[in-house]
Amino acid sequence: MTPERTAPGHAAAETGEGRVVLVTGGARGIGAACAAGVHARGDRVAVTHRGDPPEAPRGDGRRYLPLRCDVTEPAEVEAAFVALEEHWGPAEVVVANAGITRDALLVRMGEELWQEVVDTNLTGAYRVARRAVSKMIRLRRGRMVFVSSVGAFLGVPGQVNYAATKAGMVGMARALAREVASRGITVNVVAPGVVATDMTAALGGERFAQLTAMVPLGRAATPEEVAACIGFLCSEDASYVTGAVLPVDGGLGMGL
Ligand code: NAP
Repeated sequence: MTPERTAPGHAAAETGEGRVVLVTGGARGIGAACAAGVHARGDRVAVTHRGDPPEAPRGDGRRYLPLRCDVTEPAEVEAAFVALEEHWGPAEVVVANAGITRDALLVRMGEELWQEVVDTNLTGAYRVARRAVSKMIRLRRGRMVFVSSVGAFLGVPGQVNYAATKAGMVGMARALAREVASRGITVNVVAPGVVATDMTAALGGERFAQLTAMVPLGRAATPEEVAACIGFLCSEDASYVTGAVLPVDGGLGMGL
């Protein structure tokens, strides 16, 4: 991990320059939409990426910081936080969004497919949350949002690994929500359904159509529709919401 831009120095959260937000997997898909949303509301946004550094939303790089980071590498997570803190100070809002699928029926799901998904989706979120939380405790404020999935509750064939991680995020978020509630920190979960991103594009048109046909609203979500709900949970308007799981699934998982 390295920051892609030189730092203008420490800018405390109290300076009115917007909160310091970190979005993992913020270069594309839901993470990019989330970063653009909080940036548009005036916050300073750091995004992690593994490929080429993403462009700043609306070309405004002053409040945008790309950080190279693979969440499966503890040293890269640590380095990303150090770079962020040197640039703007500690993260006040963290969105643990980075995630992958490696689908296979359980009979064909070797340990490698299991471990890769667990290490990215669940342990990656743990690494990020753990690194962020001590600074939030010191600040006595903070917002964390974990990006789970309707798959945690629905159970999708071929996604034993993915469903386990996304259900695990709910337990992790709720335990943490209780640990830090007295410090003014909220911890919540969004559970998207079918969202039009690279992740679902990889399923192919036929499978994508099958999935959207199951959605009561009859279509996939845009990344921006999910980002709007994450933005709400990160906002002051959500000050009395913690330990919640917010479905953003067009009704796909209702009742689960
Ligand atoms: P996507 O377009 O495939 O993006 C995945 C993001 O995760 C990318 O930014 C990717 O970073 C990042 N990522 C993957 N492995 C990483 C790693 N080891 N370290 C750091 N970053 C990593 O998928 P998406 O749909 O936006 O998914 C975002 C989140 O929403 C995921 O957690 C996913 O499980 C969840 N979700 C998606 C859907 C859906 O239908 N799309 C539904 C429910 C939940 P790079 O750009 O560096 O590759």
